[in-house]
Amino acid sequence: MIHIENLVKSHGSIRILDGISLDVPAGQVAVFIGPSGSGKSTLLRCVNGLEPFQAGGIRIEDRKLEPATAPNSPELLAIRKRLGMVFQQFHLFPHMTALENVMSGPLLVLKESKEKAEEKALKLLDQVGLKHKKDSRPSQLSGGQQQRVAIARALAVNPVAMLFDEPTSALDPQMADEVLSVILDLAKTDMTMLIVTHAMHFAKRAGHRIFFMCAGRIVEEGVPADFFQQPKSALAREFLQKVE
Ligand code: ATP
Ligand code: MG
Repeated sequence: MIHIENLVKSHGSIRILDGISLDVPAGQVAVFIGPSGSGKSTLLRCVNGLEPFQAGGIRIEDRKLEPATAPNSPELLAIRKRLGMVFQQFHLFPHMTALENVMSGPLLVLKESKEKAEEKALKLLDQVGLKHKKDSRPSQLSGGQQQRVAIARALAVNPVAMLFDEPTSALDPQMADEVLSVILDLAKTDMTMLIVTHAMHFAKRAGHRIFFMCAGRIVEEGVPADFFQQPKSALAREFLQKVE
């Protein structure tokens, strides 16, 4: 589903992504962990077409991103449309209700009718446990609730995969658990997901596969049970000792 080959991203002489290759098959949850500054957010932004890169390529289903892909090319816009992105700060539209936030993509991006968009939005709000908050504005919702609306909004454009950059970092533990549980439910529907997190319990529970990044490279990858119990590289062992 998502295939990345030898991806290189530089700023001046600094390589922020230094030859990343990986595959995320359909229905899998890939979790990215690693020290601050290792390139995790940059990788997600490259996949989403938000950052140009200098070498290598990214394929999402049959669409390709290459260094030469222009910022407003149909290929890039098509990829952006197919992916749902959720950030640490929820980025909801503050003047819109929860329902209007979730309807915005279907109306503006997919050009769906108001009736169809509303029906879908209500279903998605129900899925994240927030149908009863449909008329609330973001300022009237808790952080966890706002993040769940953000997930519903991202799902509303029928993405083929979802990208999450530290979706629970701004939340207290209980709210983070609410968001985790929505993500675990999504995994059961076979949604393909790329998730960056600093929360190791989250990585263990949500991930089918863990990718450990350091200095712009994937140093180690494996299933959570192997990676967390028997990390192979010294860098991963050192990292886990610090964070756990
Ligand atoms: P964190 O865990 O703190 O979120 P991260 O793994 O997501 O870190 P990135 O945000 O991807 O890391 O940043 C990777 C590296 O790229 C960092 O060293 C950062 O300083 C550098 N970087 C990011 N954006 C730019 C930029 N516009 N110009 C120069 N360097 C940048
Ligand atoms: Mg980051």
